[in-house]
Amino acid sequence: MPTVNIDGKKIEVEDGLTVIQAAERLGIEIPHYCWHPGLSISGNCRMCLVEIEKQPKLQIACNTRVAEGMVVQTGSERTKAAQRAVLEFLLLNHPIDCPVCDQAGECKLQEYYMDYDRQRSRMALPDKVRKHKAVPIGPLVMLDQERCILCARCTRFVDEVTKTHELAIFERGNHCEVALAPGKTLDNPYSANVVDICPVGALTSRDFRFRARVWYLQKTDAVCGACANGCNIEIFHREGRIYRFQPRANPDVNQYWMCDAGRLSCHGLQGESRLLEVLTRGTDSFAVGEWESAVGGLASTLRDPAGGVAFVVSAQSPNEELYLLRRLAARAGAMVAGVSWSPADATGDDFLVKADKNPNTAGLRLFGLDGGASLDAVWDAIEAGRVRVLVLHRSDVVGWASGASKRVREALERVPYVAVLDTHGSETAQYANLVLPLATYAEVDGTVTNHAGRVQRLREAVPPPGAARAGWSVLADVVARLEPGLTIASAEQVFTAMAAEVPALAGIDHAGIGPHGVSVRA
Ligand code: SF4
Repeated sequence: MPTVNIDGKKIEVEDGLTVIQAAERLGIEIPHYCWHPGLSISGNCRMCLVEIEKQPKLQIACNTRVAEGMVVQTGSERTKAAQRAVLEFLLLNHPIDCPVCDQAGECKLQEYYMDYDRQRSRMALPDKVRKHKAVPIGPLVMLDQERCILCARCTRFVDEVTKTHELAIFERGNHCEVALAPGKTLDNPYSANVVDICPVGALTSRDFRFRARVWYLQKTDAVCGACANGCNIEIFHREGRIYRFQPRANPDVNQYWMCDAGRLSCHGLQGESRLLEVLTRGTDSFAVGEWESAVGGLASTLRDPAGGVAFVVSAQSPNEELYLLRRLAARAGAMVAGVSWSPADATGDDFLVKADKNPNTAGLRLFGLDGGASLDAVWDAIEAGRVRVLVLHRSDVVGWASGASKRVREALERVPYVAVLDTHGSETAQYANLVLPLATYAEVDGTVTNHAGRVQRLREAVPPPGAARAGWSVLADVVARLEPGLTIASAEQVFTAMAAEVPALAGIDHAGIGPHGVSVRA
């Protein structure tokens, strides 16, 4: 365990750590372009040059390992001169695009120019080497060759992470450029990660570019809901509108990356298909209802159902909802079908993407809801007249049924009372007596459990639209009517209650889950 002194601060670190990583632990930022913790060390940009005692030449911090007694200066005059020289070199042929570049606000060239350079260019504008601009190189990525600083992050990503080799660096000297390899398109399932790691505006997102200036956006830590992997993400949003998902580093789940399908799933969370009102069935159409009477009506139906009750609960539900549904079903003496449904053509890979397209299948297991009744058993019970009340929670049973939808439709027509609790409108909701609009995972506090049994936090990034409400709060209201005296006012309180009841969650404190989640037996 060598001890190293960086800018007068001492730190003991493990063998093999680089100077840039040791400085990071001390909160000292060493500027860099080509180094990325998820890629091999390239050492080409030279921006991280530092002065090391007893070394005659400046050394790159990204590829210099710490040694016992090493003394490093990251802000000495020699280092500052080197940083200015590197920036002048990198900016030599860079176009004056900042006012129209979509990377503005998150461009490392722009930021480091202000922090470490601030010199006038000695290169006359007409002498700059011109290259291709705004070239679509894949469904999600736009390339501007002039802006590229040849850090090789993107080429290392496609060589080392996806191993698909779509990008390469061609030519020499001033004419060096990143381009597609012959016959290739950047269309691998993780292609948009190159946009995140490109430190400048050379690779931009065709999905996001020019939709918003990033300095107007807020970001909230979240977990992607597109499959059971539970990749850690940041949701970028403004005034209630979601603009993009970007991966958030978690070494135990997704390292630094996310798949394109998960990234694009942000678009399905908002829009016209959302349920915005409480709806109650009138004689021949739905009428807009009130939460108070709707929740009261559902609670009294469950208290006195005049027959059997069945719940269909999907693995789209966060843990808090699963816990409350289990409690509610026990009160109502209901049969419960816990369903983890994915499209028949859903596929996964051996990296991040799982064939299970539900964020919380492990949650169903955690609460013992996976081993109950099957969906077929629910339809059998309805056909036999044994079920008179059906609660469908985040369960589009008609959409799931495909070839068997005739049977499902007939069952839904036959059962006297159907309550649908969901985020989006669907054909299933057309059969409901009561429709309760719920919030999506981007609109609630809560937790989900990924395929490996990692419990991770959801946070409310944007408010639910219209009259939609967090599922835990709706269910807590219904449970409270069946269990007088019970008050649950937050997702945290639901978590505390379930941690006291579910052995796998015993001892886990909601506030202590942390940004990377905690592992449980699921
Ligand atoms: Fe680096 Fe971006 Fe150029 Fe790729 S396109 S080499 S990531 S600057």
